[in-house]
Amino acid sequence: MELSFVDALTEDDTDALRAAPKVDLHCHAYFSTRRRNLETRLGCRLEPPPAKMNKLGGMIVYAMDVLDPHLRNRETIEFVVEAAVRDAIEDGVVVLEMSIDVRRAAYYTDGLAGVVRHIGALAARYRPQISFRPELGIPRQAAADPELVSRAHEAIELGFFQSIDLYDHQEACEPEAVEPLYAKAGAAGMKLKAHVGEFGGGEEVRRTVELLGLEEVQHGIGAAESVEVMHWLAENRIRLNVCPTSNVMLDAVSELACHPIRLLYDSGVPVTINSDDPMIFDQSVSDEYRNLYQAGVFSADELDDIRRTSLDGVVNRVANNLEL
Ligand SMILES: [Zn+2]
Repeated sequence: MELSFVDALTEDDTDALRAAPKVDLHCHAYFSTRRRNLETRLGCRLEPPPAKMNKLGGMIVYAMDVLDPHLRNRETIEFVVEAAVRDAIEDGVVVLEMSIDVRRAAYYTDGLAGVVRHIGALAARYRPQISFRPELGIPRQAAADPELVSRAHEAIELGFFQSIDLYDHQEACEPEAVEPLYAKAGAAGMKLKAHVGEFGGGEEVRRTVELLGLEEVQHGIGAAESVEVMHWLAENRIRLNVCPTSNVMLDAVSELACHPIRLLYDSGVPVTINSDDPMIFDQSVSDEYRNLYQAGVFSADELDDIRRTSLDGVVNRVANNLEL
């Protein structure tokens, strides 16, 4: 008989952990598959990242140096996404909201239509096993590039992307710069998300949520520095899609054992547990649950509560034959 998720954690049964349905609501397509899959395709070993990188800048140095030279072509980019969808299925992910960067259109002669064709075919191919929901990814620096802004508007008009996310260096643009884009995405019925509060800045989390009308925040762990902001997020049911290993490796958090997700959870803020960039952080969603349990951050029952709660609200759009 298959173990429950709680027993899988306490008995450290990784197969049973993977078998339990989960969501991944914070994952970027560009670095979305495990490094080993890319190594197999390339036939060479890729240097792993250091255990600690200096914030986003440190990660970009590693990625540009080691990963990016292999990724700058359409075939490899397409390979990475498909391998990531397979990784997610093997890991028991039933809902995958993966951001597809608006710049990806440059790899297709017909622009966004090429992106939609590829991602749409993948979503259809794997639909029986996973609800792969394409998310429109906007790098913050795109706000200053009229061509990318107009492509982002065009992408929303396609009605293909189910959510929108904003990422990269927070100082690259103020949220005001993307207000019209978010208003349009909201009117189109897309779920509104943005990266904010990855490296502190609780008040900026609240300001960005209010300004852009966000339903969910990618990271947002800086909210833990303000009791008031945590209460506000809890009251307004704003969910934080947290990626614990990413936070530790980018030194937003010194070590997993003192991750603020504990304080956020205790303050009633809805949280989910996600992968971010598996090619860099090398952890699946199941690994992240296991890591949090083994570091003593949460009990097995609390992690099961987070898992079940994160399925609420998204699972109604998933095949109803899943064992929750
Ligand atoms: Zn992210």
